[in-house]
Amino acid sequence: MCGIVGVSHHKEASKIAFLGLYALQHRGEEAAGIVSYNGSETHVLKKSGLAVDNFDEDNIRKLTGHMAIAHTRYSTTGSSTTKNIQPILVTHRKKTIAVAHNGNLTNTEELYAKLENEGSIFQTSMDSEIFVHLLAKTPNGDMPQWLIKVFAQVKGAYSVVLLLKDCLVGARDPQGFRPLCLGKLGDGYILASESCAFDMMKAEFVREIEPGEIVIIKGNKLESVFLPGFVGESRAFCVFENIYFARPDSRIFNDNIYQVRKRLGERLAIEHPVKADFVMGIPDSGLYAALGYAQQLGLPFEMAIVRNHYIGRTFIQPSQFLRDFRVRVKLNPIQDMIKGKSVVVIEDSIVRGTTSRSRIEEIREAGAKEIHMCISCPPIKFPCFYGIDFPSTGELIAHNKTVKEVADFIKVDSLYYLSLEGMLSVMKEKGNFCSACFTGKYPTQIPKNTDKLKLEI
Ligand code: AMP
Repeated sequence: MCGIVGVSHHKEASKIAFLGLYALQHRGEEAAGIVSYNGSETHVLKKSGLAVDNFDEDNIRKLTGHMAIAHTRYSTTGSSTTKNIQPILVTHRKKTIAVAHNGNLTNTEELYAKLENEGSIFQTSMDSEIFVHLLAKTPNGDMPQWLIKVFAQVKGAYSVVLLLKDCLVGARDPQGFRPLCLGKLGDGYILASESCAFDMMKAEFVREIEPGEIVIIKGNKLESVFLPGFVGESRAFCVFENIYFARPDSRIFNDNIYQVRKRLGERLAIEHPVKADFVMGIPDSGLYAALGYAQQLGLPFEMAIVRNHYIGRTFIQPSQFLRDFRVRVKLNPIQDMIKGKSVVVIEDSIVRGTTSRSRIEEIREAGAKEIHMCISCPPIKFPCFYGIDFPSTGELIAHNKTVKEVADFIKVDSLYYLSLEGMLSVMKEKGNFCSACFTGKYPTQIPKNTDKLKLEI
């Protein structure tokens, strides 16, 4: 998963892009980059790790220009090496092409093979680089037609921002797997994966880029074109953005994420009302559904587990003792609240089950009498090929286990999942979601080779 930002027509475009990365840091913590353009030169800054830790005033000041694009990376294709930090920047026939991509393509191997046969030399092991080669190879006269020809060759999930010549371009695949929002700041435009980025920059949210739409922004003028042949194409917004991934203060897929998660909790309470002394959520992702659950049943909602926000990602974990310590540092249950109580613990989802198991163990150690766990989505049984890093079926705990078996694994007294119908019923765009991780019904052909490192040499 990744976060992307584009800025046009702002005298401090790279600073604005950095603020965007700050707001979108949750979408990828492995590496970040900004490319700026000042009308004649491009500047680039790329670093491993968090943008918020590794970018500063000094290095951002060097990124001059009125346009910028930026990316924060959580790898879902290609390893986590410096060559794979985005935006990808090249010069072709004296013109800049810079690309920042969120999502996974599903016809990567075919395109990769075709392009290599035609003489392309790939510099990274990311599917995202395909855009660069297609842009360079496709005859380009008229910008909208050029872009339509490029995007028509690509299948799967993509929200992208591009710097091309003196234009900022934003595009979203025809099924709209990943979000992309349009904002206005002064005379210029902003593109960002989530609308929370606009709040950070004090930009105004205009709308979402439509599935299959390409916006071409030159100066303060915006032109919109659509990929032909996709009108009426079924949509496949990623439901996991709503469940877990996006920030609660964002508005994507025509909904506010905080409210979506609360509604998931309310619906969970209607489907699975559990009698207990109080309801608690696993911070941060389970809190919103926990609040909805508690309010729906009129049960007390308690913040009985405390999150430490100062935990470093680079924490060394050489022994089991230190690994356990890390878990405890991050989330610590409050014994005085929990001891002797029967609790309902709400979590947004269970993927491998390993973190849930250790959280439950800690809540048990804090003295809980009964622990009932409710999950605000159905069991995740199938991998994702569109940009969520869900492991192979073998690692997904619910893939071949019954709910009772999952409950036994994580050691809860009872476990309940929200139904698929219940989950979709609370979404504003009900029929427009991809739920393949729950159903195995993929909205596109799935790639032949599903290995994340398939392009690695
Ligand atoms: P676990 O109990 O180990 O399955 O961890 C569950 C928590 O990790 C939930 O809050 C999930 O939403 C969160 N999570 C989100 N994305 C992923 C992912 N790609 N892989 C594993 N866990 C994830």
